[in-house]
Amino acid sequence: MLSLKHLFGTNGIRGLVNKELTPEMAIKVGNAIGTFFKRGELIVGYDARTSGPMLAKAVIAGLNSTGCNVLLAGMAPTPALQFAVRCHKPAGGVIVTASHNPPEYNGIKVIWNDGIEISHEHEIEIENVYFGEKAGFAEWNAIGTTRELPGIIDEYVDAVKKHVNVTAIARKHYHILIDGANSVGSLTGPRLARELGCKVSTINANIDGTFPGRPPEPRPETLGDLATTVKAIGADLGVAYDGDADRSIFVDEKGKIIMGDQTFALVTKYFLTDNPGENIVTPLSSSTIIKDVADKYHGQIVWTKIGSVTVAQTMKELKAKLGGEENGGIFYGPHQPVRDGAMTTALILNIMARTGEKLSTLIEELPEYFIEKAKIECKEELKQEVLQRLIEQTKGLKTNTLDGVKIWFKDKSSILIRPSGTEPIYRIYAEAKTSQKTRQLIREYSSKLKAIIKKLS
Ligand code: MG
Repeated sequence: MLSLKHLFGTNGIRGLVNKELTPEMAIKVGNAIGTFFKRGELIVGYDARTSGPMLAKAVIAGLNSTGCNVLLAGMAPTPALQFAVRCHKPAGGVIVTASHNPPEYNGIKVIWNDGIEISHEHEIEIENVYFGEKAGFAEWNAIGTTRELPGIIDEYVDAVKKHVNVTAIARKHYHILIDGANSVGSLTGPRLARELGCKVSTINANIDGTFPGRPPEPRPETLGDLATTVKAIGADLGVAYDGDADRSIFVDEKGKIIMGDQTFALVTKYFLTDNPGENIVTPLSSSTIIKDVADKYHGQIVWTKIGSVTVAQTMKELKAKLGGEENGGIFYGPHQPVRDGAMTTALILNIMARTGEKLSTLIEELPEYFIEKAKIECKEELKQEVLQRLIEQTKGLKTNTLDGVKIWFKDKSSILIRPSGTEPIYRIYAEAKTSQKTRQLIREYSSKLKAIIKKLS
């Protein structure tokens, strides 16, 4: 995953442990980050991966050598570490995590003093120090210190609870099943739910960095155990987190897995009921279901490029209070404008409690769409030219070209065609009111795209 020219990908630094991402490299990355932060104080944490403590120690050595003091928060979800940065106001933070990637990967995410991942411009500054060998080492008597920062999980869980009606939720005595992916979601999800008065059952709740329970990306195909168990034990809902617990996917009481778009639409509906006229920030890859709900409940959709950092930065710029992604990432600004699995869990319980409805009923009340995805091979060097031709062909249609090209049709169907940032492919997302129409759109635009690629090859 790592290239020779860049450290940072779409979401921090990621690589195969001890092959692409070695302790030596982590020290050097620590040096670059420490130089960038000019000897400020940084909070450091890691997720449950086997390589977490090793790489965190290396990053810390790198930071200390440039004079940075470190507050070691230990094992924690990404959103808990981000909240700690907002709370304790250091210069920034570093979390060693590869989020949803398989256990053999790890990564390094750098957090700015507002709790959001650093901007692309700041990433380039860190890369310039790293590749230009420009690290500023401290004299022997100015080397940074490291001390422990206990209690960030307590502060985080307490903060999440402030945004929901704890008494109303507790009165319902919900039974929730939590799938922590054998990672840090198990440190916060069960505890939060118990403090909200729920009966808590868990699967994959033992911390184990080999992720024996399921892959850390919560997708319908990896959540079979959660879905079956919710139904078997008669729970009111189930929730699964990704490897660093910033994303959450829910299961209703019938054992049906709810798509991330639907969860986001549900949160949007009740948020706009209380806050009409507010902006809802979401990438172009999100479903029209969000637009429908925003229109009906008097909200404004702000479309962004794809990527959680873009959503968070846009929310900050516009002082927006709600953002979301189709992958189960929900950003609740009054708490913090970053993806947050525990906050989302509390919001869903809050909606269930205020309406008194079952989760399946709440989802059934939302508009319904059918979604299909496809990918088409395309060489890296052709991608931009292909996109230009495609945009020319869509003149006269209702489009947005912020990230690839998204086309909205009169019958409420839509299609997004965009070059992948990491692979030699184009991705196509089609959506319509019937599955036939979705398939037809995929066929039509796949052949258009293939024809353009063939012509240019
Ligand atoms: Mg994640």
